[in-house]
Amino acid sequence: MLHGLVGSGSRLKSESLGPFRDFCPICREMKGFTATSYFTQRHVRLFFLIRLDTSREGGVGVAQCTGCGSRWTLAPGARRAVRPRAETDRCAARVALEERARAGTLTPEERSAILLEPFPFMAAMLSTERAIGEADRLSALGCFGTVILWLGLAAWMALTAKGNDEKLMVMGTISMVATGIGAALTIYAWATRWKRYVRRVLDPRLVRSLRPLSPSMHDLVGAVKEFQRVDPASGKYFDGGRLHDRLRGVID
Ligand SMILES: [Zn+2]
Repeated sequence: MLHGLVGSGSRLKSESLGPFRDFCPICREMKGFTATSYFTQRHVRLFFLIRLDTSREGGVGVAQCTGCGSRWTLAPGARRAVRPRAETDRCAARVALEERARAGTLTPEERSAILLEPFPFMAAMLSTERAIGEADRLSALGCFGTVILWLGLAAWMALTAKGNDEKLMVMGTISMVATGIGAALTIYAWATRWKRYVRRVLDPRLVRSLRPLSPSMHDLVGAVKEFQRVDPASGKYFDGGRLHDRLRGVID
């Protein structure tokens, strides 16, 4: 009796935690950030209409730069009203380092560290996108398109080849091949969604961050290699040669 009248479900919800300031490694200066908490809200639904929120699950804090829009997991202590001394010192030291980077007076070790700096942030942005990002549009379009194509072809067959077995066979084969291609393209789009996200969203941010340092091909390949050593799972998405081409404007 209750089945159908009482249902349950969950949805991703967010809650603002307020603004704070921090050093953005993509904008390369102190910037305003917004802090947001994302969590899964469980609910029960009565008579299909009344929704009662029950428990909250998960909960991840995300910081988003108001300058470049990059977002990653909120660092502990980043948005406290009275920041721990160590946090204030870290920001001041990073701003001082940036001034020396502009003046070209960094030691080779400092320059290597600064070249590597944006990569973990971009890996964190990739993880954030995986956890709370929107569905991949190309995969959704492929899935939707394949279903529409399949329905369209079925209707076409039903309308034009009624009773004609030979025609039905030819049309059936065409339909199967066309739907198969649609499904294969959808699977390809799904399998490459993170690779495409890195190229479309993260690579331009890395270029913006690294351009002021005028890195050579050797610098970029070295930084990516080092990052891949530290974080192989995220590192595989980045390529020093590709970043170099982007910096020179050879590819978009
Ligand atoms: Zn920024």
